[in-house]
Amino acid sequence: MISITGLSKYYGNYPAVSQMDLDIRAGEFFSLLGPSGCGKTTLLRMIAGFVEPSEGSIHIDGQDVTGLSANRRPTNMVFQNYAIFPHLNVEENVGYGLKRMRLEKAEEKRRIGEALEQVRLSHLGGRRAHELSGGQRQRVALARALVMRPKVLLLDEPLSALDKKLREEMQVELRSLQKAVGITFILVTHDQYEALAMSDRIAVMFAGKLEQVATPKEIYQRPRTRKVADFLGGMNFLNARLVGERAGTVSVEAAKFGAVNLSKPQGFTATNGHVTVGIRPERLRLLWDDDRAEHELIGRVENRAYFGEVTHLTIGVEGLEQPLSIVETNNFGADDLPIGADIRLAYDPDAFVLLAEDEAVKA
Ligand code: ATP
Repeated sequence: MISITGLSKYYGNYPAVSQMDLDIRAGEFFSLLGPSGCGKTTLLRMIAGFVEPSEGSIHIDGQDVTGLSANRRPTNMVFQNYAIFPHLNVEENVGYGLKRMRLEKAEEKRRIGEALEQVRLSHLGGRRAHELSGGQRQRVALARALVMRPKVLLLDEPLSALDKKLREEMQVELRSLQKAVGITFILVTHDQYEALAMSDRIAVMFAGKLEQVATPKEIYQRPRTRKVADFLGGMNFLNARLVGERAGTVSVEAAKFGAVNLSKPQGFTATNGHVTVGIRPERLRLLWDDDRAEHELIGRVENRAYFGEVTHLTIGVEGLEQPLSIVETNNFGADDLPIGADIRLAYDPDAFVLLAEDEAVKA
């Protein structure tokens, strides 16, 4: 649906987006995720036609749109501050963009009605902007974009102005709306949970480049680099030694954990036999009383933080350079473990990931 080739944007000498190659599929909910300043918005605005690329091309649905102005592209954008017109009511706001299409009155009304239904606002058509809640205003902004029937809907941090609870509700709603209308959505966000919850695929960006493009599960469970792993939540990193290498896999030895076989991430090279492996805190499990596991470690509680449903523990293990972080549900009393307690840990060697050095990917 969208094909981006060799796309760059320079501000002076500064590359906000650098030599990017990316394909986005029709009907996909696709998110651009990365820290502030990584170039997400610049990329989205180039797709929309608001920012002119310094080099490269953008094709949408087979058509080269690189030189087209925004209003001639089959795209529409929902902005962060969704400026809706205060002097117009909901229906008039939604129908605003239709005016220049000079549709028949009945057709215009039908399309406005349909868009309002899609965002579940049919009952509020006569209200003015100041009579709406934040979530309802967000829906008006969405309906205003949907009514134009774009092939691609671009969303720049559309939920960032909403409080946490409403934001989470809207995440679920946006996702099901996208599946219902079948339009390709491209969402910009710096919130990893938002990207994980809503997307079919996520592109993780750093410094104008793509670090990894994959499904939410793959991004979380198989981060390609240390940067991606870190950005998507906690991860224990361990120095390991390469002890064997085959086509798609390597065998590594990390102190105390013994040898494990791991698949190679895209762009992996073993420079001098030293590699980095990672394991998520929730993949390490406390063993209680008579619990036994195939792979065990002994350690001591160094620190504890209570988070309601889970407790985060820092566990010192003799022979490891760094303590391990673990996350435990509180069903068995992890929240009551005293600092200094001796504990046993279980781990699954399959939970380790091998990490590549940072290097941009084509996707
Ligand atoms: P945020 O999440 O904070 O919006 P972002 O990932 O969307 O960040 P961009 O807004 O795309 O990042 O900006 C990427 C880089 O380009 C930043 O370093 C920014 O300062 C710079 N930049 C963006 N727009 C301009 C501009 N018009 N002139 C000069 N530099 C710019």
